[in-house]
Amino acid sequence: MSYIEPAPILDHANPLDSMMERFHKAAEHLGLDDDIYNVLKAPARQVIVSLPISMDNGDIKVFKGYRVIHSTILGPSKGGLRYDPAVNLDEVTALASWMTWKCAVVDIPYGGAKGGICCDPRNMSTGELERLTRSYTQSMYSVFGPDKDIPAPDVGTGPNQMAWLMDEYSRAHGGTVSAVVTGKPIVLGGSLGRVQATGRGVMTTALSAMAKLKINPYKATVAVQGFGNVGSWAAHLLKERGCRIVAISDISGAYYNKKGINIGKAMTYRNENKGSLKGFDGGEIIPADDFFKLEVDVIIPAALENVINEKNAENIKAKLIVEGANGPTSHKADDILLNNGIVAVPDILANAGGVIVSYFEWVQNRLGFKWSESRVNRRCDSIIKLGFNNVYKISKEYKVSLRIAAYISAIDKVAKTYKFRDGSFTFQKT
Ligand code: NAD
Repeated sequence: MSYIEPAPILDHANPLDSMMERFHKAAEHLGLDDDIYNVLKAPARQVIVSLPISMDNGDIKVFKGYRVIHSTILGPSKGGLRYDPAVNLDEVTALASWMTWKCAVVDIPYGGAKGGICCDPRNMSTGELERLTRSYTQSMYSVFGPDKDIPAPDVGTGPNQMAWLMDEYSRAHGGTVSAVVTGKPIVLGGSLGRVQATGRGVMTTALSAMAKLKINPYKATVAVQGFGNVGSWAAHLLKERGCRIVAISDISGAYYNKKGINIGKAMTYRNENKGSLKGFDGGEIIPADDFFKLEVDVIIPAALENVINEKNAENIKAKLIVEGANGPTSHKADDILLNNGIVAVPDILANAGGVIVSYFEWVQNRLGFKWSESRVNRRCDSIIKLGFNNVYKISKEYKVSLRIAAYISAIDKVAKTYKFRDGSFTFQKT
């Protein structure tokens, strides 16, 4: 019997510190009172489980699983499920808090949560992954629920895991409960447009920010780090709107092509190559460390946390960073970017397209109805544009970065909602 220990995080910056630093700054700007500050900073619930799984070779391995619910003030908590060797409690807690702020920034009626299992899904068989997902769902049966806590895909998980989760939860419940999880396969009640939604939101916010910075998309060059769900769709959709994607990367390496990478070809290659770009010949291989030094207009980090940090932020030449990933910039890099005039569209706004369409999936499941893809896309675009314009306005009003403005917008909303629920606010009759 072996026990899988968390692998160390790539960079030493703790994502929870980065989240708290921004939360603190925004709370100061808002003049948030101490009581509310303390309510909002602490996660509402942290659940840790041990999951013994029979592996294909007959061994039993014990995996550690987490679910952190940061807040249910705005509604049932919502947040993805991550399978990665670096998953640990602080990371899951930071990601859960970001979900609270993200839902609030784009004004959807959810609180924030996140789940994770410390495992290496690339080295597990389909059967092992299914047993792990079903075991995790059984352990979390009392946590999950369509009115309580609703998981979704994240790094290392996708429609398959969501299907197993929905099925296992439904078996325990004694009837089909589609709305307990989002990001499901379409035939199981998934929403049209969900797969592309996060990349689509990245594209929409990137274009909104380019318009403010007077960057012409038809002349813009873009580098995208991470070529999974978010990165590949963001690259594909930005290319459709005229941008030249000169660099893409994944865990296998970084690929550069001055004339522009054929994104459709790269996606097909990846799909036929077990999800990896290894061996892709549509661009020259460049050292991973050179990725953030590239002379491009826009960088889209769409892999993991802390990839932009105090060690490499000074080298960045792009004018705009649009955060497809959660927490890709450490708080120590914020000031360096700001001093160098680099604008960052923060994760809690830029990658909110995923949770917006997850919300639509949940709404459709509860209605027992299906929307067309064009309706989903239209509504998603309009919500995320509203969110961007609101954050931009706050950044001008408070003279702060888009990141701090997004936190101000989110914290203000959650704090006001808390005060109404708590009874410390009442409407005055006029
Ligand atoms: P994914 O598993 O589909 O893809 C992750 C990609 O990152 C892969 O291409 C992987 O090879 C690459 N990668 C991993 N380590 C890397 C490294 N060191 N350098 C370069 N590339 C590396 O995951 P995803 O769903 O696309 O999620 C990516 C990020 O976006 C995560 O931070 C996730 O939390 C965030 N996010 C995802 C969604 C969603 O709907 N999937 C929504 C919001 C935010």
